[in-house]
Amino acid sequence: MKAADRMKIICFSRKTAGPGKGSMKGGILLLSLIMVLLFASCGTSPANKEALLPERTDRSKETRIAHLETGTVGSAERQEMGEPEVSEHQETGTSLPFSEKASDAEENLTDQENQADEKTGTSETSPDTEDITGAEKRSREEDASDTEELLSSEEPLITEETPPVSETAVPVADLRDPETVIDTTTTLYTYEKMEGDLHYLEAVFPEILRLYSAGATEDGRELYYVIFGNPEAERQIYICAGTHAREYMTPQLVMRQLAFYCTEYETGSYNGVSFKDIFTNTCFYVEPMVNPDGIAISQFGEAGLRRADLKENLRRIFESELAAGTAETADYARYLVRWKANALGVDINRNYSPGWETVQDRSAPSSTFYKGTAPGSEKETQAQMTVVNSMSNPLMAISYHSYGDLIYWQYGQPEPLWTDNQMLAQHISDMTGQYLAGYSNEAGFSNWCVTEKHLRSVTVETGTVPAPLPLDQFPELWREHQYIWPMLALTY
Ligand SMILES: [Zn+2]
Repeated sequence: MKAADRMKIICFSRKTAGPGKGSMKGGILLLSLIMVLLFASCGTSPANKEALLPERTDRSKETRIAHLETGTVGSAERQEMGEPEVSEHQETGTSLPFSEKASDAEENLTDQENQADEKTGTSETSPDTEDITGAEKRSREEDASDTEELLSSEEPLITEETPPVSETAVPVADLRDPETVIDTTTTLYTYEKMEGDLHYLEAVFPEILRLYSAGATEDGRELYYVIFGNPEAERQIYICAGTHAREYMTPQLVMRQLAFYCTEYETGSYNGVSFKDIFTNTCFYVEPMVNPDGIAISQFGEAGLRRADLKENLRRIFESELAAGTAETADYARYLVRWKANALGVDINRNYSPGWETVQDRSAPSSTFYKGTAPGSEKETQAQMTVVNSMSNPLMAISYHSYGDLIYWQYGQPEPLWTDNQMLAQHISDMTGQYLAGYSNEAGFSNWCVTEKHLRSVTVETGTVPAPLPLDQFPELWREHQYIWPMLALTY
């Protein structure tokens, strides 16, 4: 089973080579894979990992490699353009030595990032209170600034003239710092960035992190999950994020947690117990981006989707919501920024069986609150159930959302799980300062965990302002949640 999953990941990497660049990409891929295997076969034991890791302050080498990979625009020119020495786009270009991505996709992404940069200034008023049924308040919209427009169109792509793989693939892997690998300099932590980071972390920390896919979305994105820590541990904890599209700071947070525990595995500790001991006794099943299609929509609008028919369907959903009076805004771009559902307009957190029949929020595909045609109808829902069902002894399931700065824990469960779940919420609250909220909605993931799996499960709403959360929320989220995993593992 695991071997099959591994093969799936490898096959996925192979199929992402873009059309028309077959032979060059194929050559680069083959060499990359060889280098990865060499890299992995070095036996990245904890002891010699330090030797493989970069000097944390060695930015000049990083810049040089990034420059080699991205093309011909010099750093002086970049500085003239107001861009930092090592830009987000440069780093994006260097982030995937282990899963090459098509340069066409990069081009789209770069343009889209600038569009979405403009969008994320959005602010509005309704929190992600899971028990809100219909009365959402209208958005307060801010005018988007059209700065930064020029950068992407000038951004060079990886071309046939890209330097030989021997000059790029290996050094990039060596030079990246796992502790800072997760890009927290932008709110646009994309599926592509996460995918590159997951492959990177697996390559650097093969003994404590394994990457799997629990399926693929309608728009062709992998539903990744990792097993972190000792895979043979007799206790497991499930963590997920990014269920609702616009709440995409939660994947960034969970990926940052994962990278931090990887990096600090040998030296870190919590309450006097080493991370190594903690993660040897308890392993973590982590699904960092439950709804990658929806996140692509919230980050990049219609352009975030790959399939033309899904884009058309998105427009139809908007028009039907406009006609029904349920659209938050008549501005299509704003409407998509506030998207919560998957690409088909189904709210994953309304697609689970407990109480599904009673959910009456929306009767048709929508940006939010539409439960789908049947419980578990969506691939994202099925993937989550598959992962949780694969765990031999799950202690709990934590689902990260935004916003509200609170924790949902009441799902109508009988004792002793009622009190047990309250205690779990209290432990998290003690660490984060988030307060305990009342009864949650029906048909959500945590409802399913508690009601059908008899498992402790809470929904953790991060952030104090409406999603998508602005970048200045991240440091507080990180401060509050940095040690959540070891705390939970030690407490239970
Ligand atoms: Zn949510």
